Amino acid sequence: MVSKADHIRAARQKRVSLRQGGDVSTMRWLCKTCGVISTVESMLSAPNPFIEDDMIYGCPKCRAIERFVGACDVQECPRESTIGSPTPYGYMRTCAEHAP
Ligand SMILES: [Zn+2]
Ligand SMILES: [Zn+2]
Repeated sequence: MVSKADHIRAARQKRVSLRQGGDVSTMRWLCKTCGVISTVESMLSAPNPFIEDDMIYGCPKCRAIERFVGACDVQECPRESTIGSPTPYGYMRTCAEHAP
């Protein structure tokens, strides 16, 4: 049984993970619903009606809300990032194929 407090905590953690790491404005996000890659700038956003001082984000293509996972750092790659690797140029998040 998930309590309301747990639910809010999980939502906050998701917000933090969406914002942390790298340059968030250039970070790529994969929509789990339609597979489109977007950046925070191209996403739809609106104030969260449930949590003060928070935003919710939606896919610019299919309008699914909060269905984003981090995408591979390689610009043309359409896959989800599953591996994080420290490199001389900074931390990279990539799919298995693009791991440095
Ligand atoms: Zn979508
Ligand atoms: Zn990749």
